[in-house]
Amino acid sequence: TRHVPFSSPFLRDAGYINGSWTAGGATKTFDVLNPATGEVLASLPDMGAAETREAIDAAYAAQPAWAARPAKERAGILRKWHDLMVAHADELAAILTAEMGKPFPEARGEILYAAAYVEWYAEEAKRIYGETIPAPSSDKRMIVIKQPVGVVGTITPWNFPAAMITRKIAPALAVGCAVVSKPAEQTPLSALALAVLAEQAGIPAGVFNVIVGEDGPAIGKELCGNDKVRKISFTGSTEVGRILMRQCADQIKKISLELGGNAPFIVFDDADLDAAVEGALASKYRNAGQTCVCANRLYVQSGVYDAFAAKLAAKVETMAVGDGFKAGVTIGPLIDEQGLSKVESHVADAVSRGATILTGGKRVEGAGTFFTPTVLTGVTREMKVAREETFGPVAPLFRFDTVEDVIAQANDTEFGLAAYFFAGDLKKVWRVAEALEYGMVGINTGLMSTETAPFGGIKQSGLGREGSRHGADDYLEMKYLCMGNV
Ligand code: ADP
Repeated sequence: TRHVPFSSPFLRDAGYINGSWTAGGATKTFDVLNPATGEVLASLPDMGAAETREAIDAAYAAQPAWAARPAKERAGILRKWHDLMVAHADELAAILTAEMGKPFPEARGEILYAAAYVEWYAEEAKRIYGETIPAPSSDKRMIVIKQPVGVVGTITPWNFPAAMITRKIAPALAVGCAVVSKPAEQTPLSALALAVLAEQAGIPAGVFNVIVGEDGPAIGKELCGNDKVRKISFTGSTEVGRILMRQCADQIKKISLELGGNAPFIVFDDADLDAAVEGALASKYRNAGQTCVCANRLYVQSGVYDAFAAKLAAKVETMAVGDGFKAGVTIGPLIDEQGLSKVESHVADAVSRGATILTGGKRVEGAGTFFTPTVLTGVTREMKVAREETFGPVAPLFRFDTVEDVIAQANDTEFGLAAYFFAGDLKKVWRVAEALEYGMVGINTGLMSTETAPFGGIKQSGLGREGSRHGADDYLEMKYLCMGNV
């Protein structure tokens, strides 16, 4: 059943297994809500372990023929999928805004970003090169070939309902894997819309399957425990990442993880202050602060602390909060009540320990789960905002004096995904970039995500990289061939 406030040829109310739109054996349904209004957008079959098994069997059967096709053919199909996504970007973005809440222009940006991964891996598909190695004896020849790992299970979050999916599926399909994909229960409609276009592009039945359901743990258990699945690729919380890694241990199953972050954003005295403010706005408030690379802790050097705080607050006050379909809105709703409560509790905790709300700081009364964009000053390391990912539009400003001190504070976390800093002096730029224990560092910029670069974290932020030429490696096995008696 669907109640989306617009008609779209890309809306489906079933899962997608072996080329068919189906509920499988599901008897219950679950609702997909619009977080801006609280309205039910669709009721989908609540699929579980049995449907997941069916999809795995379909993928397992379809994968060898897909892998056997020339790379150029797989590349051509992916290219077509990319072109369809771009051609229908508006329709896809409307579905995305409806189920996730981000402002429509941002949603459109995400669709193009998601499509860019498909384009990139369509190109890379033809460049999965092996290796020849000079042999240690004259009668031997040594070669390394690359082969797809096989069936891949993907589990993805709600904050980028389209891009988190293509980032995994595009490289997997490009190198010859088949996929069973489990989108977040909050945002399954975008995943289904992508499958509609994948089918139109010519991706064969069984090669790409989508399981929709509310019981993530049951679906995850089947994906991890089924020995036909050779690899799991997950984006989400560190907590769930740990569970999946444990579940993969029994079969020594390969796993890629993109987990939580706690990004530091450092402004040094010699930074271009206006650029730093722009960078903070982009990094902190994009997607209403709900990205794993959002600045979570802003460290500002004493000499520019007050000036930076004032400039940032002035810009933040011009942001428009509201329904993502409304023109001019830059801050949509938080994904749900739980997300909103977490943000409220972080702000309340900071204030109770002495922080000051420079602007914002409260939920918006009425329908939907909105929080006003916020700047906090006088923040210290004892507060929750220093340790935990807030995942909301709150910028806590910490004051620091020396380079050594801020590096120590920035690295004092179990996470290691993204970090940002703004500085002028070249020597300091190199030293700080090298000292930050993070997988990605933005220098004098608040935005660095692109399909051409390796995205990923160190420490408890994850394993593996997505995007760039390195992203295909996560879906490939290396095989060493040794010929004797030549
Ligand atoms: P978030 O806090 O962003 O919702 P989660 O890690 O809880 O992050 O969710 C990310 C994805 O993981 C979602 O698709 C969710 O359904 C799924 N998920 C949640 N718990 C489990 C689990 N125990 N096993 C497998 N998948 C899970």
